[in-house]
Amino acid sequence: MPEAPKISLKPTDYNLVEKNKKTLQFIEDVTANADEVQERVLGEILTRNANVEYLVKHGLKGHNDRETFKKVIPVSTYEDIQQEINRIANGDTSKILCSKPISEFLTSSGTSGGERKLMPTIEEELGRRSLLYSLLMPVMSQFVPGLDKGKGMYFLFIKSEAKTPGGLLARPVLTSYYKSSHFKERPYDPYTNYTSPNETILCPDSYQSMYSQLLCGLYQNKEVLRVGAVFASGFIRAIRFLEKHWTLLCNDIRSGTMNPQITDPCVREAVMKILKPDPMLADFIEAECSKDSWRGIITRLWPNTKYVDVIVTGTMSQYIPVLDYYSNNLPLVCTMYASSECYFGVNLNPLCKPSEVSYTLIPTMCYFEFLPVHRNNGVTNSPNVPKSLTEKEQQELVDLVDVKLGHEYELVVTTYSGLYRYRVGDVLRVAGFKNKAPQFNFICRKNVVLSIDSDKTDEVELQNAVKNAVNHLMPFDATISEYTSYADTKSIPGHYVLFWEISLNGSTPIPPSVFEDCCLTIEESLNSVYRQGRVSDKSIGPLEIKIVEPGTFDKLMDYAISLGASINQYKTPRCVKFAPIVELMNSRVVSSYFSPKCPKWVPGHKKWNNGD
Ligand code: AMP
Repeated sequence: MPEAPKISLKPTDYNLVEKNKKTLQFIEDVTANADEVQERVLGEILTRNANVEYLVKHGLKGHNDRETFKKVIPVSTYEDIQQEINRIANGDTSKILCSKPISEFLTSSGTSGGERKLMPTIEEELGRRSLLYSLLMPVMSQFVPGLDKGKGMYFLFIKSEAKTPGGLLARPVLTSYYKSSHFKERPYDPYTNYTSPNETILCPDSYQSMYSQLLCGLYQNKEVLRVGAVFASGFIRAIRFLEKHWTLLCNDIRSGTMNPQITDPCVREAVMKILKPDPMLADFIEAECSKDSWRGIITRLWPNTKYVDVIVTGTMSQYIPVLDYYSNNLPLVCTMYASSECYFGVNLNPLCKPSEVSYTLIPTMCYFEFLPVHRNNGVTNSPNVPKSLTEKEQQELVDLVDVKLGHEYELVVTTYSGLYRYRVGDVLRVAGFKNKAPQFNFICRKNVVLSIDSDKTDEVELQNAVKNAVNHLMPFDATISEYTSYADTKSIPGHYVLFWEISLNGSTPIPPSVFEDCCLTIEESLNSVYRQGRVSDKSIGPLEIKIVEPGTFDKLMDYAISLGASINQYKTPRCVKFAPIVELMNSRVVSSYFSPKCPKWVPGHKKWNNGD
């Protein structure tokens, strides 16, 4: 991930060692004084927002101490504050959640009612995000020296944005960041020296953006010391793009000109400042790309690469084997943990194994609390968290410095931009401490069963989608007796697979087109992040339904029981991940069908587009 330094310095007077030392000292200080910093952060948030409607409504009466805050202010979910959010989106500028003006909405990949959640933010949060980014490279350079001597090849993209009825922008947090002066006008820093010119990152057309970033990355291949993207899925998409388009890219490098499909004048101008004819490099790339195997393609094309910087924790861990294959087992480095609500923490031991990654929460980012989680050991990995909390459960929340090693918690934050005791939806486990600040393994996102890219589909959404699809089977007197699902990431892009066991009472065979309609209906019923991934980002492939032999789900139950599941409590898992179970399901497939086209998707919220 790119980082934005705070201090403006010219290359000549840039004292890297000094700056790194200062940054590491900052981490020492805030972690050593984690509790004091947290108290100060909460005090600041509550003091400046003392008169906002939300806090007044709950009777905080200007108090800014932890005890009163915890007694008076309830733990909240998005649905609890949806009315306030809607008012802000519709143009109400009174101080509803925050005393500072809401500058825009950040659209989370977490959804509510099928639509992205809208997270209010304020201008100064960009500074806090920049601060977190600025911690990453000083940490990294403790483990990998010389990173200032070359460039980073990062595939970074913006996504479409919309306007709320009240005129506020609504866009993903990274789009907001890349379009801000914090990123665009960053002063010289050897650690933010990327192969991609800003114009290629800021190009709204995803094909032109990817093509031009790859072209610049290939052309500067010897200078590249680290490669990456935000999430593993994005990096793999870039490799896939290269597989498809390397001949065109080689032509451009050979001739020093640009493929006419790249029409964005800003992109062309920026790339043409870099690109000169280099037939030898073009021959080299062509020779490597035309080999049968693409094993180690990263280290072959970018021979000085020291690590791959992508998030492979959480659902992204499914991509580790593919990344290992393409990168010849280079270290996979997860540097940070962040969200639209707030940026949270950094990995202080970035060369550790992906399975051991832990994030140290930075106590200045927001006020953190932790709700103890008691997970069931189900196949779906869903934690057993009640929807709204009882009085007693509200009192169970603990502070940052009071979490216990090995215990699991749901993250709850109070932010400078007006979220109070807000449940982010992530489950974390305490893996250790940096001074007084805990370090957390990312365990899972609450309730998510399927994810390919940034989409997060939960069990209820899946259930509704299947229910809608089953209507197509009614004319054939057929129903689904059981179903489960699986995120297939062997194909690139990955896609959702549903295993269906059908009970057919009628005698008319069901034509393939009916199952294809079922696939499309499921896709149409899934949330807008999924549909955006299918339509705009092309990061998710067509959904597949696999019909399995009668009796398959009995076999699945037998297998689960042989592994120790209780017969009485057995429920069909709505998602399977464990390889032998996926294999068992796949071995009994009788036919399979794909969605014939993309579902509908338009930027923004459905209700804004309908005008109601
Ligand atoms: P969004 O609000 O769309 O930016 O998504 C934020 C969510 O992405 C977080 O709440 C996590 O569920 C997930 N996420 C972010 N960073 C990481 C990470 N380093 N490892 C695993 N999951 C992450």
